[in-house]
Amino acid sequence: MSYENLAGRTAVVTGAASGIGEATALLLAAQGAKVALIARRAERLEAIADKIRANGGQALAVVADITDDASVEAAAARVHDAYGTVDLVVNNAGVMLVNPVDDGRIDEWQRMIDTNLTGALRVIRAFTGDLVAAAADGRAADLVNISSVASHTPFPNYTVYGATKAAVSFLSQALRTELSPRDVRVTNIEPGMTQTEISTHISTDELREQVDGVLAAIGALAPEELADLVAYATSRPRHMNLRQIIVLPTRMA
Ligand code: NDP
Repeated sequence: MSYENLAGRTAVVTGAASGIGEATALLLAAQGAKVALIARRAERLEAIADKIRANGGQALAVVADITDDASVEAAAARVHDAYGTVDLVVNNAGVMLVNPVDDGRIDEWQRMIDTNLTGALRVIRAFTGDLVAAAADGRAADLVNISSVASHTPFPNYTVYGATKAAVSFLSQALRTELSPRDVRVTNIEPGMTQTEISTHISTDELREQVDGVLAAIGALAPEELADLVAYATSRPRHMNLRQIIVLPTRMA
């Protein structure tokens, strides 16, 4: 599939070292966008950026931890030096640490809040000025937030994860009140089970195996299918905002 209007865009994708972020970075670059890839694992980012360049695309690997203010600011400075004003931000980095609330894993709760919510806000702070400026120049300007089906459907053991994602979905909605009048689109995507590394960080073997079992049984979405949605939404004419996408494997729907 080809998407109009992505050639010449300047994108930042967080969590680009694997899964949905990696697939999105590859697809946007294949469509002619310059792509800055942000995550913590340098080798993974370099390998993906090399792959993009080998295919004739433009990519910049930027190692950063979105739980750290200074790291995100330094990343934004590198992106600006290399590529100038960004017009497409995919706020995708996130962690899903499944645990029962009575385990009291405040460490994991804090990590999810700091990555999924405050981390997303740090990225928004770093690039909103770019998006507003790009839109004022008549360019398409997009903020895509990757939330989750868990933001509106409660599941046991996903209590805090779901709360962080509900916050992300609300944030998208609230941000539109500030950004839509300035022609910046905010797209909120709420995926169901997608086959990525996401379950590997779950600390309890039993819960990790449960998630992997469901992923295998349900016919999970592929990260490339999420990338397709990001590319579709951001390549519409600039007056058209596909603002909310809920996408589930059919057997989960
Ligand atoms: P992955 O675990 O494959 O990807 C997560 C990415 O985020 C990795 O590239 C990781 O790279 C990066 N990341 C994690 N923490 C940080 C950090 N502190 N700073 C910078 N980067 C970070 O999982 P997915 O691709 O599935 O997840 C992408 C998004 O999709 C997440 O927000 C997730 O919540 C959401 N989602 C996923 C679903 C699924 O079923 N897979 C369903 C619904 C939503 P590194 O470790 O190198 O930093």
